[in-house]
Amino acid sequence: MTTPEFSKSRVSKRAASFTESVIREMTREATKHGAVNLSQGFPDFAAPEEIKRKAQEAIAEDFNQYAITWGTKDFRDAITAKTKWFLGLDIDPEREITVTCGSTEGMIAGMMAVLDEGEEVVVFEPFYENYAPDAILSGAKPVHVPLRYTEDGWHFERDELSAAFNPRTKAIILCNPNNPTGKVFSREEMEFIAGLCREYEVLCFTDEIYEHIIFDETQKPESERRPRPEHISMAQIDGMRERTVVVNSLSKTYSVTGWRVGYCIAPPDITNAIRKVHDFLTVGAAHPLQKAGAFALSLPESYYDELQADYQKKRDIIVPVLQDVGFKCDYPEGAYYVMTDISDFGFENDVEFTMHLIREIGVAVVPGSSFYHTPELGHQQVRFCFCKKDETLEAAAERLASLK
Ligand code: GLN
Repeated sequence: MTTPEFSKSRVSKRAASFTESVIREMTREATKHGAVNLSQGFPDFAAPEEIKRKAQEAIAEDFNQYAITWGTKDFRDAITAKTKWFLGLDIDPEREITVTCGSTEGMIAGMMAVLDEGEEVVVFEPFYENYAPDAILSGAKPVHVPLRYTEDGWHFERDELSAAFNPRTKAIILCNPNNPTGKVFSREEMEFIAGLCREYEVLCFTDEIYEHIIFDETQKPESERRPRPEHISMAQIDGMRERTVVVNSLSKTYSVTGWRVGYCIAPPDITNAIRKVHDFLTVGAAHPLQKAGAFALSLPESYYDELQADYQKKRDIIVPVLQDVGFKCDYPEGAYYVMTDISDFGFENDVEFTMHLIREIGVAVVPGSSFYHTPELGHQQVRFCFCKKDETLEAAAERLASLK
């Protein structure tokens, strides 16, 4: 019922202001049409045996009730130890870590913990599609800065980024290595972003779930290759440790996207706020899976070397196939996606092309427009993921050949 003074709708303005995830929808479309699914980024191969065994043991040992809301002690200790060897950072497991239901919850709990109505959040576009709804659900306004594709990879203009910062700016979101572009931000770029954060007293949410997936330039003759890009966490940059929320997860590094176990690393005052939001959102992440997570994070360095080499091989299978059948794309530097330009196929837009690809060719991808605030910017792009068995990539290649 409505009165002139007060009108209400059944669905909130916030929920009405964004659409469903196109990435998740494409997986459903792939299933419906029997397409090879190179859309949503999750592995179709088995998770590591010993990690699965630890989860089974934890259930058998009866770690089946709530864990401490911000995470089991052994998992937080393992996060501290791994962050020390990998990033060289000292993290207090008692005051600076919150274990969440995937990095998805980590990101939104983090934003709800720090953002107020009317504040702005800078987001590079193309972006992973959760970030804008996260900002909106937290009451804030996303402000977009383009990453543009050049001959030398994806770059932002320093002037455009500077112009996006103002006294209302509360945070910037950085996905590094980047989904969907495959960009790995250089130290100079990180320093520049950090400079703006310090100048405007802005926090940085950094999504680092692809931290171990970074590639060599195997596409070039050995003498022309640059060294493999280095993963730099924003928390490592001078003066940024106290203004950075690192969001991470088991999903991509240990191939367990369905476990929904992630974590936030943040200074104590922010962690306090994140823990409260997290507690009332979800109480906690699955207890036995945190036990297995503690084991996973203690794996030797060789585990990460193998992961890198495996994904390098997969990238080197898919990119030449895409280039050969007519997609314009480069070899990504990191993460497990290839953002491609489809303009040579002569389709009106990315959604039409994607539907053709799923229904007629039998390969599912994500339409580029779902990574942009202004959909037109993605109308001639689609994203492929390559975190799949070699056989899956080969099956896709066979089907894609008919595009030629
Ligand atoms: N990160 C993955 C992607 O971009 C999917 C994440 C998800 O669907 N939760 O495809």
